[in-house]
Amino acid sequence: MKIALIAHDKKKDDMVRFVTAYENILKEHSLFATGTTGARIMEATALKVTRFQSGPLGGDQQIGAMIAKNEMDVVLFFRDPLTAQPHEPDVSALIRLSDVYSVPLATNMGTAEVIIKGLERGDLSWREIMETRNGD
Ligand code: PGA
Repeated sequence: MKIALIAHDKKKDDMVRFVTAYENILKEHSLFATGTTGARIMEATALKVTRFQSGPLGGDQQIGAMIAKNEMDVVLFFRDPLTAQPHEPDVSALIRLSDVYSVPLATNMGTAEVIIKGLERGDLSWREIMETRNGD
């Protein structure tokens, strides 16, 4: 699975704690991240992460482009709901594209944990269900 990891500044410590806790599962997948989030993850763990631009400089849009090309399977996006973001339109666009393509999207750690547990089980079949629908 290709997994995108993004954390707003006040959520980066939470992201580092999360990926540390689930490093054994995440290391089996291809990881992508916005610039600073990816740097923090690689400092704290042995995980290899493909880094895009920092979020405010276009990183969210780069991840959105992968979603639009069906090249991203999961998005774990630890948003800060209490701080205005200069790149709010990009944040909204990323969430919107996840919904357009039915890509599993967590915007907080609780949902991220549910998704990770689903990945661990390895029986996610939403893409097959979508194909059935599209084939109608
Ligand atoms: P960053 O970007 O990981 O480069 O800080 C995240 C964001 O703010 O969207």
